[in-house]
Amino acid sequence: MSVASNIRQLKAALPAGVTLVAVSKFHPVEMIREAYEAGQRVFGESKAQELTAKQPRLPDDIEWHFIGHLQTNKVKYIAPFIHTIHSIDSLNLLQEVDKQAARSGRNIRVLLQVHVAAEDTKFGLTPGACEELVRSEAFAACRHVTVCGLMGMATNTDDTGQVRKEFRTLHSLFAMLKERYFRDNPAFTELSMGMSHDYRLAIEEGSTLVRVGSLIFGDRTY
Ligand SMILES: *Cc1c(COP(=O)(O)O)cnc(C)c1O
Repeated sequence: MSVASNIRQLKAALPAGVTLVAVSKFHPVEMIREAYEAGQRVFGESKAQELTAKQPRLPDDIEWHFIGHLQTNKVKYIAPFIHTIHSIDSLNLLQEVDKQAARSGRNIRVLLQVHVAAEDTKFGLTPGACEELVRSEAFAACRHVTVCGLMGMATNTDDTGQVRKEFRTLHSLFAMLKERYFRDNPAFTELSMGMSHDYRLAIEEGSTLVRVGSLIFGDRTY
């Protein structure tokens, strides 16, 4: 199957209100262009260096999403053009994004990454730390970011019951935070969950942004 037909098939299968983030990490700009020509505009990358190398070689109307672990010293390289950062996992990182957004004269959309998987290798705030962050004064002082919701990854397992449970945990945290802290914030609407192997489950559990790589572009060679 070609990249273009994979994109078309996936898009046709997504319900209204769910956006496809085509995860193009480790794949060359030629493949991204192929997806672009098939109508895809939203792409996800997970390394600042790789993204800053690709971005100038591709059309300006691409919406770049950063989905990987982001080091504070790399924020300045992506701040001038990044559309959404899914992986805010500390106050320190949020403050750096805020600072670099101001420096670029921009406002950057961000999601708070929450750890819901059983594996301890995955980054993210605990649900408790996430709520603590959201209610802090330092959080309220970040004026150059728009907090649009949460991102999370489920455990990499065939146990769909467990995966569903983790997505539900993330969805209920989202609903609780919205109710308590973002009631008057119309931008707090996004739940980024689901990858190639679990995006269908994620959609059933309320995902609004699915991050799909290998189903579109094939296997990555690291
Ligand atoms: C790589 C990656 C994806 C895409 O994974 P696939 O299994 O290729 O769909 C999604 N989310 C994050 C955070 C990733 O790092």
